[in-house]
Amino acid sequence: MILIIRPDRTDIEFDKLICELESMKMKTHVSVGENTTIVGLVGDTSLLDINEMKANPLVLDVKRVSEPYKRANRKFNSADTVIDINGVPIGGGYFTVIAGPCSVESQQQLNLIACNIKKSGASVLRGGAFKPRTSPYAFQGLEAEGIKILENAKSREDIPIITEIMDISDLRYFENVDIIQVGARNMQNFRLLKMLGRQKKPVLLKRGMSSTIEELLMSAEYIMSEGNNDVILCERGIRTFETSTRNTLDISAVPVLKKLTHLPVIVDPSHACGNACFVPALSKAAIAAGADGIMVEVHNNPAKALSDGAQSITLEEFDCLMNNIRKYAELENKKL
Ligand code: PEP
Ligand code: MN
Repeated sequence: MILIIRPDRTDIEFDKLICELESMKMKTHVSVGENTTIVGLVGDTSLLDINEMKANPLVLDVKRVSEPYKRANRKFNSADTVIDINGVPIGGGYFTVIAGPCSVESQQQLNLIACNIKKSGASVLRGGAFKPRTSPYAFQGLEAEGIKILENAKSREDIPIITEIMDISDLRYFENVDIIQVGARNMQNFRLLKMLGRQKKPVLLKRGMSSTIEELLMSAEYIMSEGNNDVILCERGIRTFETSTRNTLDISAVPVLKKLTHLPVIVDPSHACGNACFVPALSKAAIAAGADGIMVEVHNNPAKALSDGAQSITLEEFDCLMNNIRKYAELENKKL
């Protein structure tokens, strides 16, 4: 971190500032020019608050030279993190496909979907039980009963399950859930992130719809700083001026994230585009961009789905998608 110091400061004020910085375990390198004095800080600057530094009356400006996240940073951990989900790897040389309905609707529905997606080659079953809906009048999910339904499908099909948590007080229902999802709307619910950092289950963290890549990584850092390193990042589309798709898949976020972090990165093409017919193309784009997997919404009868029917592909379309992406994964040297 570099501090640019006001030229009109007194030596006494400046020495006091240097002492303060050194008491924060920072090494300081001072360079005094004709008009400006620059202080280079060496140490774990991720612990410093850039705004606090800027608030100091002696400081004209502050520039970060290293990223504010440490645990998620590839610079400090160059090897890809591979997370083991009950024998299913996510990250490294694997391409993991997570599939299932937006919402868990009934046991019969979920059993049918679980059996079919597994047969087609998916390795994790998704289904929302606690649903974050824009309207309070829309279907809110089956909540705890929905998780029971997921658990039954898990043991019937021997497939790991992922579902979203909206409130930490619901954590007691997640005992048999294999991956806890944090949705886009909760990406910066820092208390929730901290509490999920204090438990052991892997967390799939979705990018907020108006969040930067650095903000996504700082949210991952919240979970990791509490002791849970098993974080999977998910690009699910961001808000732009474009209206022909529900969101805009920020495909460049995939290679950018893969460069900045060792954590696995997956793509959710369904929420990114909001339209089932674009899901196969975006899934292929995800593989080509270097993603470690996709999470796709699949429904036995999209027209009658209780949520996100328009973006849900049918069981048959999912089977076709799996057959199609196999060759793309092979080209990228990813095991599907
Ligand atoms: C979901 O996965 O069902 C969901 C609500 O996604 P997002 O948080 O990305 O909107
Ligand atoms: Mn959905």
